[in-house]
Amino acid sequence: MKKLSVVEARKKSSIGHQACIQGWVRTRRDSKGGFSFLEINDGSCLANVQVVADAALSNYESEVQKLSAGCSVTIEGEVKASQGQGQDTEVAASKVIVHGWADPNDYPLQKKRHSFEKLREWAHLRPRTNTFGAVMRVRNCVSRSIHNFFQEEGFFYVHTPIITSSDCEGAGEMFRVTTFNLEQPPKKDGKIDHSLDFFHRPTFLTVSGQLEAEIFACSLGKVYTFGPTFRAENSNTSRHLAEFWMVEPEMAFFELVDNMDLAERFLKRIFRDALEQCPEDMAFFNEWVDKTTIETLEKIINSDFERLPYTEAIKILESSGESFEFPVSWGQDLQSEHERYLTEKKFQKPVILFDYPAGIKPFYMRVNDDGRTVRAMDVLVPKVGEIIGGSQREERLDMLESRMKAQHLNPADYWWYVELRKFGSVPHSGFGLGLERAVQFVSGMGNIRDVIPFPRTPGNAEF
Ligand code: ATP
Ligand code: MN
Repeated sequence: MKKLSVVEARKKSSIGHQACIQGWVRTRRDSKGGFSFLEINDGSCLANVQVVADAALSNYESEVQKLSAGCSVTIEGEVKASQGQGQDTEVAASKVIVHGWADPNDYPLQKKRHSFEKLREWAHLRPRTNTFGAVMRVRNCVSRSIHNFFQEEGFFYVHTPIITSSDCEGAGEMFRVTTFNLEQPPKKDGKIDHSLDFFHRPTFLTVSGQLEAEIFACSLGKVYTFGPTFRAENSNTSRHLAEFWMVEPEMAFFELVDNMDLAERFLKRIFRDALEQCPEDMAFFNEWVDKTTIETLEKIINSDFERLPYTEAIKILESSGESFEFPVSWGQDLQSEHERYLTEKKFQKPVILFDYPAGIKPFYMRVNDDGRTVRAMDVLVPKVGEIIGGSQREERLDMLESRMKAQHLNPADYWWYVELRKFGSVPHSGFGLGLERAVQFVSGMGNIRDVIPFPRTPGNAEF
């Protein structure tokens, strides 16, 4: 007998077929007429398939009538047209095999709706909920879109290392990687002797694959990385994780406007794919999580992002009449409240801020002719704030070296990065998109911990 997923069994085209359906019971309802309705979900889609189990089944009384939420089953039977509302098909069971029971006194996912906070404590069970199932399917869709977009645009996928010895720009606090016995690390002159560690030097989990991706952009042209990224920042916000997935395209012969154009097309593609390929899950988010989700995405797809120099943004913020918690002044980094004012109130659409003060941006960003600003760009979206950060890179050897020195970095430590500017240097650009921020934005989910299977945040790594 052919196995059908719930998504297939719900299609009209399956009517008349014998099928085997496997999944977990969501509900059981016994009818007076001598049969039971089972709602089965297998994760293939948000919806369940309805199964009609007749009292004539040999295990009807002994098993079927004891089924409850969470039990796992195999159903064999015929797919039929359904008279019921909300579905085209149902399955008339000729056999119900129970694989695993779930004691209703213990199984936490009963009818009652739990808070997202509570569900985080059950990371092993929360994927069985409607919300988390929808999140995971949309996360999958976004990941596929990312690959499709870049592959179709002629980019090569490169795998940059997870263990690294370069602290990219000091993008964030880093996690150390060592095989030392932490109780007794070898010491020399009172200090830890890293030359005796596994890699003969201090090593860390990567905070960004950018520096390595630049090597490949300066040889393959257009590349992207897509992998786990680690930041040991002790920030307990709804937008930060200690382990997240970052997509980082890097392109030779791209200037800042090319970079902005790419970022805008890229985000629109992700949003459009989610709406087109996950309509059921997106409708669910729109009903239960954030009533403006679909409308917001549609508006964004159909309009141009605002492009605004940092200096202009400061003027707008200063004359906004808003009472911000943090004061605004030229040369300071924008706080999330400022970013949100610009994208949510002032422009009500995504804003690409660019040309930031050199003093608040890393050494590798290209210095503008004014000498005070660098070719940085951040893409801000409503509710989430910064979703993309990027820049045109400094391709001039002398400028790069003086920027490094100004930031108390030793060019010798980055000799290979510096040499890219010595041998056939080219203008190039790139950016980083946090996958979770993208999924957060697409779904409307308020907390980034609820869009990744196993969130790592300060104090949390149980699962
Ligand atoms: P923020 O200012 O929001 O802390 P950032 O400027 O430190 O972010 P970048 O170094 O520019 O971040 O990283 C590029 C992108 O990676 C960000 O635009 C964001 O989408 C994502 N990102 C950065 N830090 C985190 C984090 N801790 N958790 C999840 N995503 C992150
Ligand atoms: Mn940034």
